[in-house]
Amino acid sequence: MRFHSSEFSVQSRRKMEIIDVTGKVSGIIERSGVRNGLVNLWVPHTTAAIAVNERDPDLWEDILSIMEKLVPVRGDYRHNAKYGWIPSEQNAHAHILNCLIKPSITIPIENGLMLLGTWQSILFIEMDGPQTRTVQVHVMGE
Ligand code: ZN
Repeated sequence: MRFHSSEFSVQSRRKMEIIDVTGKVSGIIERSGVRNGLVNLWVPHTTAAIAVNERDPDLWEDILSIMEKLVPVRGDYRHNAKYGWIPSEQNAHAHILNCLIKPSITIPIENGLMLLGTWQSILFIEMDGPQTRTVQVHVMGE
């Protein structure tokens, strides 16, 4: 049983943005030497998240637009009022979305490859950018 711990950074350029990180995760799995097992991705942030979905920038805009309708960036949030003197803390919408989308996913690995379906990619979801973010990667298996 191997346990390989690693991480990579993601640079977002917009307030809300979806970034495909599938290639970065594949590279880490390859270097880990694990052929069969699991990879867990952990986003150590309260205003970003990670998901598996289709690699289609138009769909990503649809997702972001629905997220904005569900939990608007501007709203009567107690968190924003409490930290009104810190411009970067006007981000209650991002904390709420983080609870809905979750900061972690686990994907099976078989013969050195993630068992992603044809239309599945790993998507990092920025909800309070632009920022430099970290994704922690733990590969377990043999
Ligand atoms: Zn905050």
